[in-house]
Amino acid sequence: MLLRITNLRRPVEEIEAELPGTVARLLGLQEPDLHGLKIVRRSLDARQRDQLQFVYTLLVSLREPPRTAAFPPGGILVEAFSPAAFEDALPGPIPMRHRPVVAGSGPAGLLAGYFLALRGYRPLILERGQPVRERVQAVRRFEAGGDHDPENNYLFGEGGAGCFSDGKLTCRITGPDVDWVLERFVDCGGRASLIYENRPHLGSNKLPMICRNFRRRIELLGGEYRFGCRLEGLRVQDGQLTGVATSSGLIQTSHCVLATGHSARDTYQMLLDTGLPLQPRAFQMGLRIEQPQEIVNQRKYGRDEYLQILGAADYSLVARGQRDLFSFCMCAGGIIIPSISEPEMFCSNGMSNSRHDTPYANSGLVVTLEPSEFGSDHPLAGVFLQRQYESLAFRLAGGNYLAPVQRARDFLAGRTPHPADRIATSYQRGTAARNLHGVLPPAVLAVFQRGLPVIDEQWRGQYLPDAVLVGPEMRGSSPVRIDRDRQTRQVPGMAGVYPAGEGAGYAGGIVTAAVDGLRAARQIVAGFAIPD
Ligand SMILES: Cc1cc2nc3c(=O)[nH]c(=O)nc-3n(C[C@H](O)[C@H](O)[C@H](O)COP(=O)(O)OP(=O)(O)OC[C@H]3O[C@@H](n4cnc5c(N)ncnc54)[C@H](O)[C@@H]3O)c2cc1C
Repeated sequence: MLLRITNLRRPVEEIEAELPGTVARLLGLQEPDLHGLKIVRRSLDARQRDQLQFVYTLLVSLREPPRTAAFPPGGILVEAFSPAAFEDALPGPIPMRHRPVVAGSGPAGLLAGYFLALRGYRPLILERGQPVRERVQAVRRFEAGGDHDPENNYLFGEGGAGCFSDGKLTCRITGPDVDWVLERFVDCGGRASLIYENRPHLGSNKLPMICRNFRRRIELLGGEYRFGCRLEGLRVQDGQLTGVATSSGLIQTSHCVLATGHSARDTYQMLLDTGLPLQPRAFQMGLRIEQPQEIVNQRKYGRDEYLQILGAADYSLVARGQRDLFSFCMCAGGIIIPSISEPEMFCSNGMSNSRHDTPYANSGLVVTLEPSEFGSDHPLAGVFLQRQYESLAFRLAGGNYLAPVQRARDFLAGRTPHPADRIATSYQRGTAARNLHGVLPPAVLAVFQRGLPVIDEQWRGQYLPDAVLVGPEMRGSSPVRIDRDRQTRQVPGMAGVYPAGEGAGYAGGIVTAAVDGLRAARQIVAGFAIPD
């Protein structure tokens, strides 16, 4: 029989090998009576700084029923469990003449491509940038002061934004599709505990290898990558996709998963010109904040040994109000990076390696902007706003992709720093001390002025004194949504066009984008036969 045990609390110092013994005692059994034990979720309860606990959800299979009362002590819940199965798809009946195309090799495109390849559809994956190896070199050249490469940067190239992301695999959805995606990340090089950790983290250093492993598997299954190949148009006849125009010529296909992410602004324009139904969508805007990691560790851990066991501490904060100011994409032991896909723009973001080993902690601090605030009259109004503030920030810092920075306490006091002021941050290309009020719309600035002191108070005055702000931060979510049919996942009136992932406006992060790509691919497989 299969049982689910929820809310089992153990001290973080206790090693996981002790779990079977603990569970057997809880159920009045001997350890050999347990047929299997799987950790489904492990989260950290850090409310008592000197008594940190892991809170486990476990699946336990037993050779015989438990011998204890149904309600064990300590709020632990034990219940019979039958897991939801992964919904697979077998090739459908409608003939497909040409191979399906996947535009974009970020998490959405990768998982769409992988599922299609697994089921025998030999997808063509179009990627405007280069393979991850060349892409990494382009990014390194930029960090050392080189030119911005519009096709190979932190957002474009093999693996998409996901490859240069921080690699946190947290998401708000659960279920068999999420589990399937996480298992594929493990197959391709992620560590096994990703599947159950509450805040699983791949780390930016591991992502290039994982993207390469996905590619190798897709190619072994007959899929094909075309790098340096930009989707530039959709050919639609009588409401059916017949081909895609690319920078390397026309490709005949009746099925295309559009997984081009939310930074391909030229692609959005092309889709709009082609007649796709694009809508403006609420997105987050703000600044990134950085302080010494040591301060975060001290705040979260009441005992030194916790740092050895748990590594650099993270946080999640919110200043509630008429409009919330909240932390987003916190990178413990990380660095600040530029999140730009167009020349002469600046926008911040963050990443960290799996070891979380820099002396800096950084996090986005953002406010949600609604379409009614930035212009719901144009589908790309959010993109225009992003461009306006990114360009402003680039010029404010004097060009050359320096990051405009300001000490948090100067920001709050409205004090313009002296341009010669040297403010140390983890941003590698260099910084310029500036007044950041101008890189935020007035409504967002007002939320910061009210919310920052509230967050500082939550930290008993330790959050702001050593903190530096940089920005703007605007690439956390898509400012555009592409309408699609809920069931078929295709654009109404354009059979064969499957918008997926973050750029389509249906995902916000690696896992949700990957799940969305998987679901688009599953829809194709379920409806159509394998092409010859
Ligand atoms: C610095 C940073 C850190 C992040 N950290 C995290 C994190 O820790 N956890 C998390 O969950 N999320 C994180 N994210 C967000 C996450 O990376 C995205 O949600 C995710 O990558 C979206 O996946 P996607 O496949 O929809 O799009 P993308 O990853 O953006 O991929 C789109 C791909 O399409 C390609 N492309 C674009 N236009 C075309 C075209 N016309 N033709 C062909 N190819 C095209 C691009 O080159 C790119 O490879 C981070 C993002 C950034 C920028």
